[in-house]
Formats: sequence, C-alpha cells, structure tokens
Amino acid sequence: MTAPTKPLPGSPAPGDPDRTAGTAPGEQLHAPVIAWFDEHARDLPWRRPEAGPWGVMVSEFMLQQTPVSRVLPVYEQWMARWPRPADLAAEPPGEAVRAWGRLGYPRRALRLHGAAVAITERHGGDVPSDHAQLLALPGIGEYTAAAVASFAYGRRHAVLDTNVRRVFARAVTGVQYPPNATTAAERRLARALLPEDEGTAARWAAASMELGALVCTAKNETCHRCPITAQCAWRLAGKPEHDGPPRRGQTYAGTDRQVRGKLLAVLREAHAPVPQAVLDGVWHEPVQRARALDGLVADGLVEPLPDGMYRLPLS
Ligand code: SF4
Repeated sequence: MTAPTKPLPGSPAPGDPDRTAGTAPGEQLHAPVIAWFDEHARDLPWRRPEAGPWGVMVSEFMLQQTPVSRVLPVYEQWMARWPRPADLAAEPPGEAVRAWGRLGYPRRALRLHGAAVAITERHGGDVPSDHAQLLALPGIGEYTAAAVASFAYGRRHAVLDTNVRRVFARAVTGVQYPPNATTAAERRLARALLPEDEGTAARWAAASMELGALVCTAKNETCHRCPITAQCAWRLAGKPEHDGPPRRGQTYAGTDRQVRGKLLAVLREAHAPVPQAVLDGVWHEPVQRARALDGLVADGLVEPLPDGMYRLPLS
C-alpha cells in the first residue's frame, strides 16, 4: 500500500478534534480495520453466540474499568451461576458484590444487579435491544447502552470507550491522546465515522475497539502491525508529543479506594455479619478507615446492623 502524504480528506487537523466537516472521514478506515478484526479478534467468551445479550451486558459492566485478563475468570463464574438476568435478580444484591470479587469499582456489581431486576420486571427477563430502553435501565449509561445494542444486536451506534477514543485521536485527529474526559467533539467525530450500513457499523465498533486494545495501545503502539498505518494522521505528522493537560494517573496505594477494597474483601469472605473490631483491623489510620466505611454504607455496598455489625446488603 502506498502511503498518502497527508491525512485523510475531511480529517480534523492535529489538535482540532472538532473539525469533522467535509467528506466522510471514516471511509478509508472501515474496510482495513474490519478486515484486520476478522483475522485478529480475540476469541473472548462474550463474543461467542452462546453469550447472548446478557453475556454481552455482563462483560461490558466488568470491562469498563478492568482489563480482560482479570475479568475472564469472574465472568465465567458469574455466567455459570446467573445465566439469565432473572437468576441474578432473584438473589440479594450483596451476592453480586461478593461474586464481583476483586474486579474493583464494586458499585458496578450493584448497578448490574439493579439492571437485572429491571430487565426481569419490565422486559420479561430479556435484555432489550433498543438503545432508549437500555438507557432507561438503572445503572446503564450512554456507553453501555450503545455497546449492548451494537455488540449484542448489531445496531448502529457510536461506541466510545477509552480504546476507541485513542484510535480516533491518533488516526483521525492526529494527536497522541484524547482529552481526559469524553467531549462533545469526540462524540460528533465518532458519529461522523460510523458506517451507514447497520451491520458494518456494528463490526466497525467492535473492530476499532479491538485495534485500540491490541495495536494502538496507550504506550508502545505497534504501528507496523496496524492496518491503517498509511492513513494515520498522528503517525504521518511525525507523532508529535502530547501537549494537552497531564493525563490522569491511576494511583491506588494509600487511597480511600484501597481501604474500601480491604473492607469489602473481609465482608465478601465472611458469610455472617462482621463486627466493627474486625473491620478496624484492615487499616491503621482511623479517620480514613471510617471515611471509607461510611462511603461503602452510603453507596449501598455495605449494610450496617444495629449491634455494630456489618454485612453485604440483602436488599
Ligand atoms: S498507525 Fe500507530 S498510532 Fe496510528 S492508529 Fe495505527 S497503531 Fe495507532
């Protein structure tokens, strides 16, 4: 393939993610990225037909802030125990928190349980296919609604996760990293890049996400293995270094998140209420420990009992 000397027609200039007018900027990207996906996509359990829409939804909740390798075993156990939304809905929310294990951000477990209850009550136990109905479920935001509608039902939606945002930032906008939080300009760009045909749009959503996960990674991107290396605006511009705001770190040690994780781990392992004194043993600093426990209670992840005992929520 002969490398063009300038970015795609209609591509925004470097540093100008809002400049999407002109010819459809994605047309030269769709075919190579989808062909690459057909050859290189990982065989993941939620991509198999037997996963069904519920499997897709569970995986999307788990994958939002956790890598695939950590999600895989928890996903398998979850689906074996709760193969349908109604199976999860029939159990207390605390069981979802327990089964969530160490995936982190455990409010996702409560939200998934809440969604399973609503699917059972409002939709006869079937995950809806319509984006608006998905969005109306508790705990489901724009991203998850679009991902489930697209991946499970082949609908045409812009599915904008971290990996996709990075691919678009580089290949189309010509910058190394997207903004820290998703912007309206990125959403417009993602919509502009969507193939018209519904089936192709769904393939494109999955394929561009996989490209970001496997090739156009945050560090050490492997452009020589990339199917759009000849069109990539950032590469063609000589890979200018990121000059936006500092990128958010993911510090964990010493944070309230770490303390919350330790408290929850004790409650997950115990199958009976746990006394305050046991929880006090997980962290040396009492103010931070109390703040973390209060936060868990406020989030509905932990239920305080009258006698100074704590447990995972039963309702
Ligand atoms: S050429 Fe490199 S930077 Fe551009 S999209 Fe491909 S992997 Fe990412």
